[in-house]
Amino acid sequence: MKMNGKTKKLAGVLFMSLSLLCFSACEPKEKQHNKHTEWSSDATGHWHECDDCETKFDFGTHNYKDGQKAKVCEECKYELDYTLEENFAYWIKGRDFIKDYDGDYTSYVDRKIYENDVLSSYNYLNESKSGNKYFSDYVAYNLNDKNEFEQSYLDLIVFKEVDDNGVTRNKEYHKIVDDEGEKITGRYVSPTQADKEVYELPRDGIEGLYISESNTYEDLIKDIKDGFKNDEEFKAEPSSIELTRRDDGSVSLVITLTSEADLESASEDEPIKGKYEIYYDINVKDGVVQNLDLGSTYCAYYKDETKNSTEKLVHKQKIEYSFDEEKYNSLDITTERTTNEYYGVIDFFVENLTLPYYCREYLVGYDVTAGEMSTYLATLPGFMASYSMEIETDKLFAFYKDEAMTQEITNMTMEEKMTIYAKFTLPEECSVILTAFKIKNGNERVHIAYLVDKGYKFTHANYFPQYSIYEIDGKENSVDDVEFVCKANRAYVVRYDTSLDM
Ligand SMILES: [Zn+2]
Ligand SMILES: [Zn+2]
Repeated sequence: MKMNGKTKKLAGVLFMSLSLLCFSACEPKEKQHNKHTEWSSDATGHWHECDDCETKFDFGTHNYKDGQKAKVCEECKYELDYTLEENFAYWIKGRDFIKDYDGDYTSYVDRKIYENDVLSSYNYLNESKSGNKYFSDYVAYNLNDKNEFEQSYLDLIVFKEVDDNGVTRNKEYHKIVDDEGEKITGRYVSPTQADKEVYELPRDGIEGLYISESNTYEDLIKDIKDGFKNDEEFKAEPSSIELTRRDDGSVSLVITLTSEADLESASEDEPIKGKYEIYYDINVKDGVVQNLDLGSTYCAYYKDETKNSTEKLVHKQKIEYSFDEEKYNSLDITTERTTNEYYGVIDFFVENLTLPYYCREYLVGYDVTAGEMSTYLATLPGFMASYSMEIETDKLFAFYKDEAMTQEITNMTMEEKMTIYAKFTLPEECSVILTAFKIKNGNERVHIAYLVDKGYKFTHANYFPQYSIYEIDGKENSVDDVEFVCKANRAYVVRYDTSLDM
């Protein structure tokens, strides 16, 4: 009711007489209000209200603290939604935590595949890593002939340190169970082999989403949009990017991509239209990414609508930032036999040029002779491209520990990773031409080594005429039609300016 001047005046008179009445009847007691025990509240604050006259008492502004879905007033429990800025500030802590995270983790991945909204297969992967300690336990289920789910595949990998006749070795235990039965293998591998095995490294989960670099909300949205637009696979901006607070207080960044295309169908059996929808949900709770979910749906539309079909993948990954010691210790890695496959790697430099082959021939801890290394290099495919003379492959190179080639090696104990410098010790009357390619990253490497007789004439036209030679045998070159005659017992390095991405 809107009060006009007259009614206001009337009300005033009425109030006056009522209070007079009260004065005479209830005197000397003050009027007793019936204060409600619970808080009343609105956006401006909270108060206790009289149940009879609605007078407000004890008014105070809200005192918010963090809640789950919303901020909550400590006194009255009034809820206020988090702002976009607050949600972003909460979320970015998790992003920052995961992007360089290199510590212990346990990951639980649950994947389900639906065909026309009916579950058709599912699998689980449980992976845990702490330095060199690691396991991954994968199991898949498919529908069998009786239309029941049945375990179709199991793949268990465990790395543990074991004692091998007094030597501590890292053992890889690998069990596979499929329709051919159970297969268990054991082998000794590099102590750091687990680093190469990981499937679900937490930080890999956010790769390719264009969310790693941005530090403001505006930049984040821009980076995601630009990233997907320039992405060869998507070539389009996401249809939505949302930052939302979940009921458990976590904050999710959800990126949705959709694409629809009319298809050229040659026959009735092929769809006329296809539609994709993909979403990524990067969920942060208490400063860490706790869930990484991904879903993709593909719908195929046909002329005959009864043939329309959908295929949906739902991938849910939960991450804990600790190692599952209990499960790890419970895994038995006994095998009938264990082979030693702990090979080292030798990175050779030939005449101080990078050689594009790593030697992975020798077991770590075993003795390797210079003759064995020489034979390895001399028989590399493409390395000794042409030679007509008889050579003793085990005597073609001398090996050194140092770049200056002063400390010669005749034999050595193989280590996990070694760098060895090699120099030709050519047979009498013989020369070698090493063609070196300058590559994109600024380095250069041996492309092909040609072993030739003394007096052989090198001509540019017979090798790689499409590239210019900028240096021969340590001397700068600016000539196009390069020619030179090889002297005996010399290694010539011909440097090509290729700028190739090799
Ligand atoms: Zn009252
Ligand atoms: Zn309040």
